[in-house]
Amino acid sequence: MTTFADLGLDEAILKALDKMGYKEPSAIQAETIPIIQQKRDLIALAQTGSGKTAACAIPICNRVDATRTEVQALIIVPTRELALQYATEVQKIGHDKKVKAFAIYGGEDATMQQSKLRHGVQVLVATPGRLIDFIYSRQIDLTHVETLVLDEADEMLSMGFAEDLEFIIQCLIHEHQTLLFSATMPPQIRKIALHHMRDPAEISLISKQVPKNIEHHFLYCHHHQREAALVKTIQDTDPKQAIVFCHSRIEVERVCRGLKRDFDGVDYLHAGLTQDVRTIITSKFRSGRVRLLVATDVASRGLDFSGVTHVFIYHLGDDPDIYVHRSGRTGRFDRAGMVVTLVTDRELSTLKQVLHKIQREPIWIGEPPKPREGGHSETEGKPRRGPPRGGPRGGSRGGPRGGPRGGQTSRGPRRGPTSDGQPAS
Ligand code: AMP
Repeated sequence: MTTFADLGLDEAILKALDKMGYKEPSAIQAETIPIIQQKRDLIALAQTGSGKTAACAIPICNRVDATRTEVQALIIVPTRELALQYATEVQKIGHDKKVKAFAIYGGEDATMQQSKLRHGVQVLVATPGRLIDFIYSRQIDLTHVETLVLDEADEMLSMGFAEDLEFIIQCLIHEHQTLLFSATMPPQIRKIALHHMRDPAEISLISKQVPKNIEHHFLYCHHHQREAALVKTIQDTDPKQAIVFCHSRIEVERVCRGLKRDFDGVDYLHAGLTQDVRTIITSKFRSGRVRLLVATDVASRGLDFSGVTHVFIYHLGDDPDIYVHRSGRTGRFDRAGMVVTLVTDRELSTLKQVLHKIQREPIWIGEPPKPREGGHSETEGKPRRGPPRGGPRGGSRGGPRGGPRGGQTSRGPRRGPTSDGQPAS
């Protein structure tokens, strides 16, 4: 097995990794670090939670010259939260080598960010919108960038940042290395790779995209029973820490208000909050002061909440990929995790696609949906009496399955670009 020492890293980096408790490289780190060190371009397909941030941050910190004040590595990420998370990881890994990392993103005073940049930053993490503002106003010198990282590239494209990325890439006219990390490989990413990368190495950990350490449970209920079913399921599963995913900001706030009646340590996160509030809530959740975080998909990608034991999906929506991202918030770094999804009749076809994607039989809490007339249920699977800590009792899901669907909003969240790199959720 490869060790960090085998990777030829600087003593100061090895020391920092040891302090962080990183004893050995994860699979993606063992594969990518040697390629990055050879200065080859790289496309890495990997799930979040695989250690992909450090896979990049380790060789970058190893390479930068901390005695120089210019930006030597530029990391583009889709959201402010991810920018802060990335910069923190770089700071920790580069701490003993005195590498300076900094994040710039919209929603915060640009003047403060500019003055920090003037003091010398070697690793700059940025959301596309704010970086472009800085480029236009000539506040930033990218001529010394040796490594460009595009993280969560598919997410940036789906948020509408394709043109911004093209612009940023074209600003780096000198020779540099490009590292592209993505969970999926849509044609647009192939296009970027074809046009802007030199003979990139490709690593795919996609076949390992279905983590075996996550249990996928489903609870079939009527639309009007969602709230009661959620409360009951949380009581029964007694999560140490959980995220409850909803499909809109309004739903997030409503569900949060409901949960506060039954539980302590409940808060919510969505992109409508100010950056300061989002930062406070994110850090409260990381430190465990918030136990149940009700959120839109702003919390579903990239962010590392390593203590999340349970994910509850209140609204499945119509996009199976969203399920994959949401469920990936638990079971980080091979820890055990449990996902419980509330499913109504209108969501059965999405569920079918989800099951195909995760290659799992559903574990039903309570009764599975009845087979359709003259055929099979769309999602036959193992019925089970309830979740691990005694499941919802017979009537707990409150009433008949099926029934009228009036007023149900089954669409999942839709993203749109915003000026500063935050999803519209
Ligand atoms: P990421 O996929 O980058 O979001 O990382 C997921 C989690 O794995 C984070 O909490 C990291 O701190 C942690 N992590 C990354 N690399 C290692 C490692 N080699 N050993 C232990 N934990 C790690």
